Amino acid sequence: MSNRFLSLLAKGGPITADGGMGTMLMSAGLLFGDPPEQWNTLPDKRPAISAIHRGYLDAGAQIILTNSFGGNPFRLKLHNLDGQVFELNRAAAELARAEAGDNAVVAGSIGPSGELFEPIGTLTHEAAVAGFAAQAEGLAAGGADVLWVETMSDLREVRAAVEGARRGAPGLPVVATLTFDTRGFTMMGVSPNQAIEQLADLELAAIGGNCGNGTDEIEGVISAMHQTNPNLPLIAKSNAGIPEIINERAVYSGTPESMATYARRVRALGATIIGACCGSTPAHIKAINDALHNLAPLTEADVAHIVAAAQERYSATKRTRTRQRSA
Ligand SMILES: [Zn+2]
Repeated sequence: MSNRFLSLLAKGGPITADGGMGTMLMSAGLLFGDPPEQWNTLPDKRPAISAIHRGYLDAGAQIILTNSFGGNPFRLKLHNLDGQVFELNRAAAELARAEAGDNAVVAGSIGPSGELFEPIGTLTHEAAVAGFAAQAEGLAAGGADVLWVETMSDLREVRAAVEGARRGAPGLPVVATLTFDTRGFTMMGVSPNQAIEQLADLELAAIGGNCGNGTDEIEGVISAMHQTNPNLPLIAKSNAGIPEIINERAVYSGTPESMATYARRVRALGATIIGACCGSTPAHIKAINDALHNLAPLTEADVAHIVAAAQERYSATKRTRTRQRSA
């Protein structure tokens, strides 16, 4: 049986993905701290989700992510919604499928559990796998084409989420992106090349970086990943610029033009699937899509200095770490 995501990927790209969901939901009236997934089954809120998907599709997105980022039982439990894991995820995928039809790929978003693994925390591998499997089952039932594990920082959690995805939705491809927001490493200290090397046995359909501290950071991530394994399809979903905290909220000032520049650069650095994350809107995705499909690609010479800067970042950090250890 053919799969929409794998067929699209087989064309080699560039592929335009969508932008932030949370940002758009806040504009649509979601209150800070409320669970976005609850909107998937509320009759008066469902049209807002559909409109967000439609906005990104009209902007040129070929892949849209479902409104299910926090749809695992661990996160939903905080809102007493853990009895509705299947329904909320199925509804998320159905809403996206209804807008995408046969023309775009529906990616079932799976975000972190929010829990820490043993021994620092209490989460066990088996509990994590079971939780992610329940989420994946709902996403598959609603018509997802691919399961999209995202914003991860712990390789053990990526592993558990991928295993859960495969248990809950056998037969669907799985991708994973991590967030390298701590000077080019994830919060748990994982570098882009470690992610590629240590997750190689999972045979993910694609891997990459999302969210974080702006486009320079993601460019470094893609460059490092591409050098580690030039054959693996890479995903770049940068935030719209570097977040600034204003009144306890993250505010993003990246313009559509700056995201168009980023799109051409990460494409030249080796990314196949390119979209955006927090702070982005359909205007940013339209600029990305135009840049990827209507402008001449940058050459390797154009991006040589970006690659050099990215390499310098990781070698400088490595030197610092070595010094700290020996001190
Ligand atoms: Zn983000």
